[in-house]
Amino acid sequence: MQPMTVTEIASAVKGVWWNPSEQVPVVSAVSTDSRRIVPGSLFLPWVGEKFDGHLFIDAALDAGAAGCLCAKLPQNIREDKFYIKVADTRLALRDLASAYRDRFEIPFVQITGSVGKTTTKEMIAAVLGAKLNVLKTPENFNNDIGTPLTLLGLAPEHEAAVIETGMNHFGEIEYLGAMVRPDIAVISNIGDAHIEYLGSREGILKAKCEIFEHLKADGVAILNGDDALLDTVTLPQRIVRCGQSEHCKTRISDIVDHGVDGITCTVTTARDTYALTIPAPGEHMAYSASMAVAVGEELGLSREEIVRGVAAYEPTGSRMRVIRLPGGRVLLDDCYNANPQSVTAALEVLGRTDCERRVAVLGDMGELGDLTDQAHFNAGALAAMLGIDFVIAIGSKAARIADGAAMSGGDVVHFATKEEALPTVREQLRPNTSMLIKASHSMRFERLTEDLRKYY
Ligand code: ATP
Ligand code: MG
Repeated sequence: MQPMTVTEIASAVKGVWWNPSEQVPVVSAVSTDSRRIVPGSLFLPWVGEKFDGHLFIDAALDAGAAGCLCAKLPQNIREDKFYIKVADTRLALRDLASAYRDRFEIPFVQITGSVGKTTTKEMIAAVLGAKLNVLKTPENFNNDIGTPLTLLGLAPEHEAAVIETGMNHFGEIEYLGAMVRPDIAVISNIGDAHIEYLGSREGILKAKCEIFEHLKADGVAILNGDDALLDTVTLPQRIVRCGQSEHCKTRISDIVDHGVDGITCTVTTARDTYALTIPAPGEHMAYSASMAVAVGEELGLSREEIVRGVAAYEPTGSRMRVIRLPGGRVLLDDCYNANPQSVTAALEVLGRTDCERRVAVLGDMGELGDLTDQAHFNAGALAAMLGIDFVIAIGSKAARIADGAAMSGGDVVHFATKEEALPTVREQLRPNTSMLIKASHSMRFERLTEDLRKYY
């Protein structure tokens, strides 16, 4: 963050500030966690479901914060600190990030979608990174605290910003978009994630389309062109559709699967043709790459830069990470998260690995509401249909995965917890076996991956 005076901050957040020493302090960082205070920063107490950051104002000031924002003034006011009183610290963070963002006249790319936001964000950042100095959302910080903090990380050297925005309720993408105000809005797809809160896929479409509310008038929307719901979108701004269908201006063709090494494909646009090598497995990667091609073209990158950028993509976190272990064992570590679309994609990758045996370790998928039973059953059935040799289903919802696999003739076992499953998981990762590990984040399957890495 570039320096801001407390007067500028107070005006941005519509707050009243008070400083006993009557000087106008300047801050260059915002801290929201009293345990990780940047010296001289502004402390912003976050009010969460489980805790109220206002309780930690003293601790934050002790740890070196120069002052704080607050909705409630603490009892003891210190002479050497400043205080900015606001109505709501969450809104204040939004307004601060929004005002700060205004200092930067660089292209902003905002991404949303049901599945593959982080993957697409990383791919776009990899492409733009071949030419530009890019600020991107770190990890998965795509919510009402992560997005403003990401924007506050903008610095004069940045030449483009790639911001992931996530949601599980109506209004959230509009809230985040108001801060980002993108030049380019990207929607990866419309799936079933968070359907529990949004009612239907049409509801999910409506929620994702909030991204257009703050798209610049001369901006461009980049959409998955093979997504039937996204095909219904019309806008005053330009739309670039990316996909394999004929109507896509950015057209994917010639996808060749190279198993765990990734895929190759061709992307043809009005401007050029790109022969892409994507170093991550799964056909869906062609969509993230084609959208990154479209963004790259919008921002004037050359063919060579775009192709090089796609080849430089690296999966982050446990998103279909390929881990090779001794004895020809291949672990497909996809335990970051799971929903019906990403489980399908992952099982297809597993089914195409060229090991002697293929094993799927699948756990509960959350937030699926009425779809829960059917989605788990379908995942099990798909595993059996793809010829996966053995399925280990873990968790209460995953009992239906076992039912689905068994009904389709698959070899399957079910466990209530991953602790109970561990000996079987270890035993099943035999020499020359590929094993997929996948479940919703709440299942904490990374512990299984960690165990297997140590064990073998
Ligand atoms: P979150 O809502 O948690 O932020 P996300 O939308 O950012 O998720 P990613 O983290 O990119 O999604 O991917 C989640 C999982 O889905 C990973 O396992 C990834 O390999 C897989 N995946 C990514 N893109 C697609 C896609 N287009 N279709 C199916 N699966 C995908
Ligand atoms: Mg994400």
